[in-house]
Amino acid sequence: MKTQIVKAGWPWLGVFHPALPLALWGPIAVACIVWGVVSHSLDLAMTSAIGAAALLVWSLVEYLVHRFLLHPPGRVERLSRWAQFAHGVHHDAQDEPIHTLVPPVNAAFILLPFLALFFWLVPVRAFAVFVGFFLAGYLAYEYVHYAMHHRDPQSRLGKYVRRHHLTHHAHGRAGNFGVSTPLWDWMLGTRLRS
Ligand SMILES: [Zn+2]
Ligand SMILES: [Zn+2]
Repeated sequence: MKTQIVKAGWPWLGVFHPALPLALWGPIAVACIVWGVVSHSLDLAMTSAIGAAALLVWSLVEYLVHRFLLHPPGRVERLSRWAQFAHGVHHDAQDEPIHTLVPPVNAAFILLPFLALFFWLVPVRAFAVFVGFFLAGYLAYEYVHYAMHHRDPQSRLGKYVRRHHLTHHAHGRAGNFGVSTPLWDWMLGTRLRS
């Protein structure tokens, strides 16, 4: 584990533990949801609707970031170098736990611009709850992805999601960009057959 930490360098600031993303972003997500519900007196139906919308938006962001930012098309050299640093190392060594989770610096780099965008796009009344569920979607992605590489799911759904992602690794990064859900691969025609 020590050599893995050294290899990963500054993104994990010398500390790697699988619970770190949850410890960093989990309290922010919960605080946003609780504060949003209380301060805007949202009922259960409204909170659920905002949450479902945020999770759907997260799943699309996950797909688009993986497809276009982490596997950049063409020769955008600087972006390709960053993508190799942020994600290529995971493809090169997919069994290394430290490369399965997104380093906090990279997660902030990807998440913060979207949160700024939502500040403009999402109604004030829904903003905090939306952000909370969006971050929950991000955390779900992290741990679904971790489980796909380091656990052996027994349920039919778990086996399907695992096969979907491992096919992405096996087939030259040509498709299956959705990790926590295959929804957008179905919708946008990038589903690979295993
Ligand atoms: Zn993977
Ligand atoms: Zn990939």
